[in-house]
Amino acid sequence: MENKSVLITGASRGIGAATARLLFSNGANLVLAARSLNEITALAQELDPSGSKVIAVACDVSSYTDVNNAVNTAITQFGSLDVLINNAGLIEPIKTLHESDPTQWSHVIDVNTKGVYYGTHAALQHMLPNKQGTIINISSGAATGALEGWSHYCASKAAALSITRCTDKEYRDQGINVIGMSPGTVATDMQVAIKQSGINPVSKLSASDHIPAEWAATAIMWLCSDEALGFRGQDFSLRDEDNRRTLGLA
Ligand code: NAP
Repeated sequence: MENKSVLITGASRGIGAATARLLFSNGANLVLAARSLNEITALAQELDPSGSKVIAVACDVSSYTDVNNAVNTAITQFGSLDVLINNAGLIEPIKTLHESDPTQWSHVIDVNTKGVYYGTHAALQHMLPNKQGTIINISSGAATGALEGWSHYCASKAAALSITRCTDKEYRDQGINVIGMSPGTVATDMQVAIKQSGINPVSKLSASDHIPAEWAATAIMWLCSDEALGFRGQDFSLRDEDNRRTLGLA
């Protein structure tokens, strides 16, 4: 990752923050994007007090203007965008379909699906002329599964997987590597919200069933390497034992 320019959405906590720490320790230049500017500014200052290698940018991924601004910040600060990690996501409110609020249901699509499209669209404007770039879309088992109370989340992740597949089909031969990363269940705030919902089997899991966010970060970094090219256009599952062994995760 040495001197690679990387934009991470949803970098304020959880998987995004763990990925920022790992990639920075491996030499990357980072743009941290999230709505919580205080959190990403604090993380940027902790990692890089000089402010030359880590930049925090307020960004709501449901706004194309915000996402495009975050991409352009990477270009302005670091001269290129080598890697985009479309990680920002949400699952709340968790409700059965007839109880869901149409505006809130749609907002999850705006973030989890349109956010991935916006990031990909903005990044490609810079990656295609350079004939190289890597886009990692954080997916979920929900992309191909169905769970009670998660109709918004399952639909949004299924659509994001479709974007991964289509983007790979359109741009693989132009040097763009697009891979999804399905982490299994991860011990973040999202699982706290899921637990509180009590609505489906995932909410019955205990904290010890979840992997740490650092494992997801390890997978994301590996997916940026040439070793992972065989996973282009699909979701790499971190629940798969062979995949875990490949990454050296127990
Ligand atoms: P998390 O701890 O709740 O973090 C979610 C991140 O997304 C936060 O940084 C949040 O930042 C950001 N975010 C939410 N809405 C946003 C918006 N509109 N614009 C910009 N950023 C936004 O959850 P996590 O577990 O790390 O989730 C990260 C990704 O992994 C998500 O795509 C999630 O679907 C996926 N995933 C998680 C699990 C799991 O078990 N945890 C499993 C499978 C997939 P702000 O609130 O500051 O904006």
